[in-house]
Amino acid sequence: MGISGTVTNTGDGVVITATAPHERLDFFVTAIQNDAPPLARITAVESRWHDSSLAAPGFFILPSVAGSAAANTAIPPDIAICDDCLNEFLDPDDDRFHYPFINCTNCGPRFTIVETIPYDRPKTSMKVFPMCSRCEIEYHDPGNRRFHAQPNACPSCGPAVSLHERSGEALTKTHPVAAAATLLAEGKILAIRGLGGFHLVVDGSSDTAVALLRARKGRPDKPLAVMVRDLAAAKEICHLNSTEQKILTSPERPIVLLVKKDQSCLTAGLAPGIEEIGVMLPYTPLHHLLFQMPDCPKVLVMTSGNVSGSPICTANEDALARLAAIADNFLLHNREIVTRVDDSVVKVACDNTLILRRARGFVPSPVMIDWPLPKILGCGAGLKNTFSLGRGKSVFTSQHIGDLDSLPIYEFYLESIDHLKSVLQLEPEAVACDLHPDYLSSRFAAELDLPLYKVQHHHAHAVAVMAEHGLSGPILAVVLDGTGLGEDGTIWGGEILRAELTGFQRLGHLSHLLLPGGDAANTEPWRMGLSALFQTFGPEGLAADRLPPALAQLDQTKVATIASMMQGGFQSPPSSSCGRLFDAVASLLGLRQKISYEGQAAMELEALAKKAKTVSWLTQLSPKSHTVLSPFLYETNGKWEISSPEFVKMVRDGIARAESKEIIALRFHSLLISSITRLIEILAHQTGIRHVVLSGGCMQNSLLLEGLFHTLKQIRLQVFTGNMLPVNDGAVSFGQTIIGGLRHVSRHPHESNQRPG
Ligand code: ZN
Ligand code: ZN
Ligand code: FE
Repeated sequence: MGISGTVTNTGDGVVITATAPHERLDFFVTAIQNDAPPLARITAVESRWHDSSLAAPGFFILPSVAGSAAANTAIPPDIAICDDCLNEFLDPDDDRFHYPFINCTNCGPRFTIVETIPYDRPKTSMKVFPMCSRCEIEYHDPGNRRFHAQPNACPSCGPAVSLHERSGEALTKTHPVAAAATLLAEGKILAIRGLGGFHLVVDGSSDTAVALLRARKGRPDKPLAVMVRDLAAAKEICHLNSTEQKILTSPERPIVLLVKKDQSCLTAGLAPGIEEIGVMLPYTPLHHLLFQMPDCPKVLVMTSGNVSGSPICTANEDALARLAAIADNFLLHNREIVTRVDDSVVKVACDNTLILRRARGFVPSPVMIDWPLPKILGCGAGLKNTFSLGRGKSVFTSQHIGDLDSLPIYEFYLESIDHLKSVLQLEPEAVACDLHPDYLSSRFAAELDLPLYKVQHHHAHAVAVMAEHGLSGPILAVVLDGTGLGEDGTIWGGEILRAELTGFQRLGHLSHLLLPGGDAANTEPWRMGLSALFQTFGPEGLAADRLPPALAQLDQTKVATIASMMQGGFQSPPSSSCGRLFDAVASLLGLRQKISYEGQAAMELEALAKKAKTVSWLTQLSPKSHTVLSPFLYETNGKWEISSPEFVKMVRDGIARAESKEIIALRFHSLLISSITRLIEILAHQTGIRHVVLSGGCMQNSLLLEGLFHTLKQIRLQVFTGNMLPVNDGAVSFGQTIIGGLRHVSRHPHESNQRPG
């Protein structure tokens, strides 16, 4: 553009000085925003005049300002292969034709290969591959697409793949990827080393291969994600709207939950009882190479390469040792994975993109908030754990860590905290954790010698959504969740809160059901079925001749034991959990009495209800038709309760009238939506608050979410939910970081930060 000046990285961001005629400068500033490189994220452009007599002719890149790297020059996330690289990859005349590690400045591995900062090749796992002279020339040429692309590589200097027996012995194949595709076509299970960890891979159209994988992995029902060659192949197996297409092909390339087509090559065993399936497109050149091979099946199951209770394997030796009982063969490569990162999972509901699992492609990008925080660590919850590091107006939420209930996952948690602290150069001065003292994350927080802020679980859920949308409150929050410890020591999970950033009031909740057997009730819905009948009809409700068919089949001595436990108040804590109410309804309907993965009964109940859903379902939810809801809503001691027994009665009556299970399941959803909406309407009227936040794991249910969005908007409230972060426990650490951080900055100097207990 004929501009003279300089550009440099500083602690405040990129600083450009430019000298040119006025209109050319305007054009330049516009171009920076409109024609930025594909991965650039411009948060703000500020310009001010400078003395043009200082400018030497020409344009120069100045070295970064020393010591400034920490503040804003973050490590980017891993990004799917770009179109330019893909074209070279597919061009038989290109030197990188079919090279499985092709990348450039606009794509490729980042966070997963970085050991420490500054982000330079010697500080990544690419350090063991010295660039050949040709790659070196590209790397140093500012006009080249691979200028300063740290993982730059080619077949003569970069990483390579190899195929192995489960014993580790290498199979000498001229084309290991072609041989791997053939093995997959033969029904074999492969462990394939990827970007952020291993995948276990089988032919997704083969009943026997999928059944074998499930048996060997000990994963009977949990849905398995698939990868297909391209968008056209995705359309053959799933229904896709334009938003879903955009996300599926985005540079983050997450797994997208899509509704399966009735007729397709998918085997039924991929997602039993669920209408959606997780689909992703190839994101590394190795994936593309696999699909280029003539033998490669059209649909590949790509599930995390881990054993139960452990995180995904990243190292070759580790995978060979631990996955040998599952995989028949191993497709390995020699570019080390420094940081383990799972595939991200998203879905589209109410025209919103909802992130269900935030990991590859998104981490470690910060989420920007409106209020400056001190340096603080949010330790997260128990299941679906993440942690977050806050500093200034940035919160860095970690990749999905997993369920913090086993030593290997806890070790992954600890090493990830260390790694993220190191790459961000961020040493926390305060820490926040859940109220629940027994979560490993809470114990870890208590061991740190830092001011500690304990945050109620559902308040964290609410603030996570508030912060994303810049709401400082007060707002009304509907948090429908599994379980979280409440301030009164009982287990909460169906909460209506009035929330601000550092405090909240519980205005209402689902009325209590007992959890007979405590934690056992979380995995055995039949216990919740009995509990629901007990709470609704008293002990007589559990008489053998009054049990619904699904529970009449139970061993009657078991029923008697549970009945006496609840009557005696033994190991039967009360809970307002919405997740457990879903379990109870699923049990009464005979849908599921034991689950093999978290949320299974609720997901199957949602799937059942969707079968009864008509086009007019949403409009029939109009709150006006439900203004009289007295049995569902009542006020005691200044707190509102939504009556759980009323839902149980409705279900029991439906079963007695021999109505279809689908209709009953849908009616349960509708009544839950209507009663919550009616309560919010009352509270909005009383408080004058017009902003409503929806969060909690149950909001992953798209019927609930769509229904609540619709009815709350009908009564002219503004409704918000999580978009950049999950509504499930994956966002709890984000909420904790903000609540704890803001409490820390506003604390009284003499105040003790450690609450007892
Ligand atoms: Zn590229
Ligand atoms: Zn090279
Ligand atoms: Fe939760």
